[in-house]
Amino acid sequence: MNASRLPLPLAAPAGPQRLDAQAAAQLGLTVQGPARAQGLVDRFGRAHKTLRISVTERCNLRCRYCMPEEGVPLHARSDVLSFEEIERLARLFVSLGIRRIRLTGGEPLVRKELPLLARRLGALKRMSDGARLDELLMTTNGLLLEPLLPVLREAGLDGINLSLDTLRPEVFERLTRRPGLDQTLSAVRAAARTPGLRVKVNAVAMRGVNDGELCALAALLAGELGVELRYIEYMPFDGNHWSEDALLPAEEIRRELATRYRLEPLGLDQDGAGTAQMFALRERDSGAALRGQVGIISSMSEPFCASCSRLRLTADGQLRWCLLDEGELDLRGPLRAGATDSDLTGLVALGLERKAAGHAPAETLLVSQARGGARAMIRIGG
Ligand code: SAM
Ligand code: SF4
Repeated sequence: MNASRLPLPLAAPAGPQRLDAQAAAQLGLTVQGPARAQGLVDRFGRAHKTLRISVTERCNLRCRYCMPEEGVPLHARSDVLSFEEIERLARLFVSLGIRRIRLTGGEPLVRKELPLLARRLGALKRMSDGARLDELLMTTNGLLLEPLLPVLREAGLDGINLSLDTLRPEVFERLTRRPGLDQTLSAVRAAARTPGLRVKVNAVAMRGVNDGELCALAALLAGELGVELRYIEYMPFDGNHWSEDALLPAEEIRRELATRYRLEPLGLDQDGAGTAQMFALRERDSGAALRGQVGIISSMSEPFCASCSRLRLTADGQLRWCLLDEGELDLRGPLRAGATDSDLTGLVALGLERKAAGHAPAETLLVSQARGGARAMIRIGG
């Protein structure tokens, strides 16, 4: 581990309670009273507007940064929320303040009849009682996307994030343990051509893997195709063999991009969940601007917990309030036992109450993952 290169830990030391007391102040947050599910405001006054719904733990790729080689224990089908159950919870969340829903997984498109769910959720944009969904989004690896684009768009999908970390087939195959680069690239191009669909591409930046390709990714995706490109810092999850050496921090990503481009900072993304530092890029040589913007999601080296506005619902119906916190609360059990909306609202408030000011530093996460019971990314929903 190279402690001099990276100033970790970045949040306060271990334990959710101690983390709250110190990290809140570090992040400029103050406790403002109990969490209120009405408005989905947590104890630190953060209003939660985005819900990520994982629709499956299954996937047609096996990305090294997301899941262990041997796979993950899958929940029984009967434990996975049905479309009716997802819609009921989504409707409740929207009535409480959620404005953006992102479908994810696993790979959302391996879930059978996914467009039917998109249609049900798309209808939440037309809810009549005042509170309504603004945007329905999806994150996908793109392998199954192309033929479904028209029907997804028609169902109400407003935007799509595709994952693409490399332009080299052998690196793609090494990273994902499957072939598929051409299909993914073709899906990105098709999405970019789809009228009215907002397209972003996520690339996990990893030292020794794709650190030499950051400019080439920007040139193709933001330059040629005009889509938004987001570099994501590599995060530790159960079974992904994370190491600090493989993490390419935001500062190094900016430095690498600056070898070819002038970076014009645009602040935190405004249309999203406030998690990406956005830039406009200009070629140093010609001064030409790239059509698409570039973002950096610096969860590890420059965390954005103070502006976090996300909640997550796992495929098996657990509410999670932080990607990097193993805390979760069961909504499926109560839902199936006949809970009313008011009962479920109380549970959501309890979850918000447990949301810490910031996530634990990498070494604490690694220790808790080593203890067992942590979820791999693929089982959370990214
Ligand atoms: N299968 C879909 C896909 O790959 O886009 C959706 C689910 S995937 C878990 C969602 C996002 O999480 C992807 O963009 C992926 O690159 C990102 N991701 C997975 N593991 C990660 C890690 N260890 N660090 C940073 N991002 C990660
Ligand atoms: Fe599948 Fe997405 Fe995870 Fe890759 S990142 S294994 S595509 S869920």
